[in-house]
Amino acid sequence: CYASSEKKTDYIEIPAYDEVKTDKKKFAEMFKTFYDNTDPITAKGLLQKHDTRYLVQNPPQPNLTTPELDAIYDLDYEREIHPYYKQKGEVRAMETIKYSITSHRGCYGECNFCSLAVHQGTTVVSRSSESIIKEAENISKRVNFKGFITDVGGPTANMYGIECKKKLKDGRCKDRRCIYPEICPKLNVKHLPQLELLRKISAIPGVKKVFIASGLRYDMIINDREFGLEYLEELVKDHVSGQLKIAPEHVTEKVTALMGKTKVGHLRKFREQFDGFNLKHKKNQFLTYYMIAAHPGCELADMKELRSFVRKELKMTPEQIQVFTPTPSTYSTLMYHTGYDPFNGKAIFVEKGLKGKREQKDVIFESAEENKYKGHGIQTGD
Ligand code: SF4
Repeated sequence: CYASSEKKTDYIEIPAYDEVKTDKKKFAEMFKTFYDNTDPITAKGLLQKHDTRYLVQNPPQPNLTTPELDAIYDLDYEREIHPYYKQKGEVRAMETIKYSITSHRGCYGECNFCSLAVHQGTTVVSRSSESIIKEAENISKRVNFKGFITDVGGPTANMYGIECKKKLKDGRCKDRRCIYPEICPKLNVKHLPQLELLRKISAIPGVKKVFIASGLRYDMIINDREFGLEYLEELVKDHVSGQLKIAPEHVTEKVTALMGKTKVGHLRKFREQFDGFNLKHKKNQFLTYYMIAAHPGCELADMKELRSFVRKELKMTPEQIQVFTPTPSTYSTLMYHTGYDPFNGKAIFVEKGLKGKREQKDVIFESAEENKYKGHGIQTGD
């Protein structure tokens, strides 16, 4: 972005700063135009009047190609902590990333609370399997490598190698999303490239285990009638290190619709399949569930319904309950600010008070007899 006194004619002018700071409808209009202009193939530059000048946002850079992405990851990275920090002691976060491999960039999940669609884009660009295998081979030769590759993934692990031909040519559709509310048939979801990739990495001498630690879209696994079950079975058998992370985020239809998340039916089905393969392979592995409290549109009653669901159906109390935090560039933050559902213009409840947010989180931990879990600190983040 830059400031300019000139009004570029081929750029789209969004409502002026003076308008959006007081008018929430104009704010929503501004956000929609911004969001619709994030695909590098179709995006136009944007202008916004600020006082006497314009704030100018250039269109996004083209997506990297597979050879370009390969070239970046083929560089000779140290995979070590910088000496400046090393002398200060252990950096525990390094252990989870030191031997993990990025297989792709981008995510077409478009969860409304996540800004990834804006900063990495909704087009998945995958590395070639040759480049990933070369990286795994290099890792396997490192002196301190114990045989465990801790992750092969990206924003969503199982989007590797799955992208829509139409989007790659003409940009993403303006009038629908790729996997919400249903998975678009043009996406042609097939987990075979990732299956083959995991098999090849696992066969590298010195590699004992390859784990998937990045999140998964279980609705995509269910949608893949050809390879979905095979993929899940191999995942359960060989690539889960005790727990598999999934992110239903909520279960009431009103809230999942505002989040842009899939329906609870997919969660039930996936859990059944996961448990079935665990039993078959005599594994004692679990699913861990990310959930959000106080998302715009979510009321205490929705959290009670979530509590009932996790106790009765999942038979557990989730540990990963986060209170919704408004972050820049997301539809959920737009809802939080305006108090409207931006997709139909209807007013929605938004919990903004700290007490109400804490209640929404704590209600999950409350039992009928006692409130001994009350007072959990608020975790934030999306
Ligand atoms: S055709 Fe379907 S998969 Fe392709 S960009 Fe449009 S919505 Fe996404």
